[in-house]
Amino acid sequence: MNWLTNYVLPKIRRAVTKRDVPDNLWTKCPGCEQMLFHRELEANLHVCRNCGHHLRIGAAQRLRIMFDDGLSTRIELPKPILDPLKFRDRKRYTERLREAQAQFGAGSDAVVVAHGRIGGQPAVAAAFEFAFMGGSMGAAAGEAILAAAQLAVLQEAALIVVPASGGARMQEGILSLMQMPRSIIAVDMVKEAGLPYLVLLTDPTTGGVSASFAMVGDLTLAEPGAVIGFAGARVIEETIREKLPEGFQRAEYLYEHGMIDLVVPRRELHDTLARLLSLLRDRRPPATVVPLPLPAGGAPAA
Ligand SMILES: [Zn+2]
Repeated sequence: MNWLTNYVLPKIRRAVTKRDVPDNLWTKCPGCEQMLFHRELEANLHVCRNCGHHLRIGAAQRLRIMFDDGLSTRIELPKPILDPLKFRDRKRYTERLREAQAQFGAGSDAVVVAHGRIGGQPAVAAAFEFAFMGGSMGAAAGEAILAAAQLAVLQEAALIVVPASGGARMQEGILSLMQMPRSIIAVDMVKEAGLPYLVLLTDPTTGGVSASFAMVGDLTLAEPGAVIGFAGARVIEETIREKLPEGFQRAEYLYEHGMIDLVVPRRELHDTLARLLSLLRDRRPPATVVPLPLPAGGAPAA
């Protein structure tokens, strides 16, 4: 019967079962609910052609968009102690980590650090992976930001951090909260070295991340429509018992109220960063200095 179970049965099953339709072929735009063809969305940097909604993207794509020619070098990050509290809710924390790492690679966590050039200027970027446990900041994320800051100082490069995070990683308790002052100390090292520290706030930047390194950039940029805030809008509404204004905690609202310096569409991200870095770092005079020609027949006028 072996040939029946091993050979014929799978064949019949394959013929009968519905062929897998890749469910990632179409994506529904969260902004206008239009169905967007995946390949087209990819070509448009995951920005909806219809309404301009900026869909969330992963750290790898973010780095490709930011650096010159999409080229950057990832660095190996120090590994903190795994699951220091032996935390368990419905699942063990180690199990949740394993699941996320199955998607993003063994030993990975919510922050990716890479270095390269932007507009020819050296830059180090730390980008959050929201799909990795909500981009939550635990000891590993703290280590990553610290490593990025140290690398920026070492290479005399600008530091650009791109948060996309729900805040602290609950499973690490107070240790995750300690990453807030730790990340501040890290970016202070960059500032003390006289190097630019830029932040690009993406959707979402909330909780402990928005209460630490994300809000102390020399320049704070944000993606259109990104939700940026500490506590969620619903929690605030319930606490103050008032209706919040339209567009509250959105990038554009924060820009109008002076919390953000620039709202940058994704397509303009690389060029904007290149321009800002050249303004901050290029010490050459903006024009060449030429001596004036001598007037005819004499010494130069006094
Ligand atoms: Zn849309």
